[in-house]
Amino acid sequence: MPRTLIRGGTLLTADDARPVLHDGYLLVADDTIVDVGSGTPPTDGVDEVLDASGMLVTPGFINAHTYLCMILGRNLGTDRSLLHWLSEAQVPLALEPEDYEVSMELGAIENLKAGNTTICEVFFSPHYDQEVDALAARVLDRTGIRTVFFRCANDESFFEGFVERRDEIVVRSERLIAEVENAERTAIGVGPLVPWGSSAGSFRDAVEISRRHGARIHLHTAETPEYNALVRERTGMSNVEMLADVGALGDAVMLNHCVHLSEQDIALIADSGSHVIHDPTSNMILASGVSPVPRLREAGINVGLACDGPACNNAQDMIEAMKDAALLHKVTSGEAETLAAQDVFLMATRNGAPSIGLGSGLGALAEGHLADIVMLDAQTPHLTPMHDPLAALAYSARGADVHTVLVNGRVVVRQGEVTTLDEPAIRARANERAARARSISGV
Ligand SMILES: [Zn+2]
Repeated sequence: MPRTLIRGGTLLTADDARPVLHDGYLLVADDTIVDVGSGTPPTDGVDEVLDASGMLVTPGFINAHTYLCMILGRNLGTDRSLLHWLSEAQVPLALEPEDYEVSMELGAIENLKAGNTTICEVFFSPHYDQEVDALAARVLDRTGIRTVFFRCANDESFFEGFVERRDEIVVRSERLIAEVENAERTAIGVGPLVPWGSSAGSFRDAVEISRRHGARIHLHTAETPEYNALVRERTGMSNVEMLADVGALGDAVMLNHCVHLSEQDIALIADSGSHVIHDPTSNMILASGVSPVPRLREAGINVGLACDGPACNNAQDMIEAMKDAALLHKVTSGEAETLAAQDVFLMATRNGAPSIGLGSGLGALAEGHLADIVMLDAQTPHLTPMHDPLAALAYSARGADVHTVLVNGRVVVRQGEVTTLDEPAIRARANERAARARSISGV
């Protein structure tokens, strides 16, 4: 069992018992944190020592909603609202099955280098008949990142070529679950992609698959007024009422965005124990609106945080997402106390864990937690001086400050470089494939 010691840093633990530890240390055995403290660390039987002097050490960030499958469309068709951006720029992009390999690799590099140790990939593709989902999940597993891979599809309406039959969705989802059953860091989740594109039966299928296999459910919820209008047209209900009606709310469910909600919707979410994921940056870029996050938290709902995809953010930096969340809700409420540094830090770490079913085992630097750990170089002008390490992380740090990253106890970023992948080769390949897809589609 390999033992790694991290010593000498300022630990932001996300553990209420001791939120900040100066001159702290962490002992990792295999994939688990086994000791946390400050001062002189135990060194017996340690295989590797990582020196964190002058660094901030935090739990790995949980980027609870992204689309690496769209990364080749980054910065294409920007400055448009969601449905225009999708239909005019992203959906027409002529991706081929092999493009998902480089997309996952590039996305994993970007996330890992920013300290995002867990991603929730909301995968969708017109090439499901060629098992691109299995390809993408396998590639992600190989990169060393922790993934919940949501295989998403609609059985009634979405863009041409993207609709699967209801029975195909069930069969193919279960096949994928069986394929990655023994993966160490990859789990499969399910859920219709858009709330206005699936039959009630297909929503019920997702719930059934979730029950049968313990799979998580991902649902886009009340993202824009247009989405809400489309759901109401089909069902006569609000998005959340529709989900309650088909039995698709509950502790295994993560509701993404939740921007346009009524008080009744909020009560339904709170009663069901569903989790909400907040995507402040993409909500601002696409002008989708402001999610009532402070109100949701007040109602007792667990709220995690995400970047959303690299094509609609247009980056993968959870530190930036923390700052965006804090600023968005301060300016909306008119109160500087709204979403303090501590709040957005916990949203990016500890609060993400229960939304993926790892409630008390991930997202904090605490004994017994999985060893997903980030070390940030604080010897920089923008982190000097450091009166308040939490505020420094939330408001002054950047993803590019990340120096070392461990996932499941394994070092996957060392001195700012990903150890599991050949970044220059992957960037070159991504440029080449993106140019090809764009020239064919004429976007
Ligand atoms: Zn989304």
